[in-house]
Amino acid sequence: MNDLSRAPAARIIDGAGFAARLRQRLADRVAALKSAQGLHPGLAVVLVGDDPASRVYVGSKVKHAREAGFLSQDHRLAAATPEGELLALIRRLNADPAIHGILVQLPLPKHIDQSRVIAAIDPAKDVDGLHVVNAGMLAAGRDGLVPCTPLGCMMLLRDALGDLRGREAVVVGRSALVGKPLALLLLAADCTVTIAHSKTRDLPALCRSKDILVAAVGRPEMVRGDWVKPGATVIDVGINRVPRGEKSVLVGDVAFAEAAAVAGAITPVPGGVGPMTVACLLANTLKAACLRAGLPVPPEAVA
Ligand code: NDP
Repeated sequence: MNDLSRAPAARIIDGAGFAARLRQRLADRVAALKSAQGLHPGLAVVLVGDDPASRVYVGSKVKHAREAGFLSQDHRLAAATPEGELLALIRRLNADPAIHGILVQLPLPKHIDQSRVIAAIDPAKDVDGLHVVNAGMLAAGRDGLVPCTPLGCMMLLRDALGDLRGREAVVVGRSALVGKPLALLLLAADCTVTIAHSKTRDLPALCRSKDILVAAVGRPEMVRGDWVKPGATVIDVGINRVPRGEKSVLVGDVAFAEAAAVAGAITPVPGGVGPMTVACLLANTLKAACLRAGLPVPPEAVA
């Protein structure tokens, strides 16, 4: 009998449901801030060019921000927009008191220097958590703005496991956007953390020894069932579109059916980490608005 012939042992971590409840709690906070403090948290989303995937992501961010009661600005610039024009827009948004969060959708067109653009964002409005000031705060164990996807992974892990102290975790992937900040957040939660990457030796054996396995690689179904420790919690960050028959489907970085037969809990793709990213963008915007106004940060906005 192979793994697939057994019923999935794992509990499915419902990221879509968690994200919907989080967005509702954030909407309640926004409504309360507006009526009690006259504070209307504002998010500006900037898209340069017309990459179809980026348009879908931006559309979802703007829609959910509006639905949750945030002030939401949607800036669309042509693909050929000069870098100077984008930087001028960021300077205007930095100076705008109605805007508490700025998100520039990545990747940017090739003629624009991504790191220069991120560096131009006021760190207090950097709701993507990519500015070196926020990356440095996280590395130093101080409270800044944390990238949205790792923040969402932490919320799902705490919900699934409760106290994370002392757990053995492996994060496969070391990008500035996902792997590295997530490893730092797990460390801050007192996990014992290993970061794996393309040069790691015997990755299957390393993964098989850990209580928490996070895959943030960008390789469809790379993590197989026999990489998973029985009962482990598996967080699949990957979003990969692959051909299947006549159509294309979304799959993660984990071979879901195989892994679910062995794991204790696992996120599906889609419906796992993805929806948490957008909800956490709203959480970061709320946090930025509260910090700017000198108000306490609500628990919903904390990892
Ligand atoms: P990057 O391409 O920036 O990083 C990928 C990482 O995976 C690198 O550190 C790389 O190692 C490592 N890697 C690549 N191949 C292997 C391998 N064979 N074995 C071990 N490690 C390997 O990707 P991102 O971090 O930006 O994204 C990762 C995935 O998450 C993608 O599928 C992306 O679409 C998805 N994603 C999902 C989001 C969501 O909302 N759910 C948000 C952001 C991303 P090295 O550094 O050595 O090259």
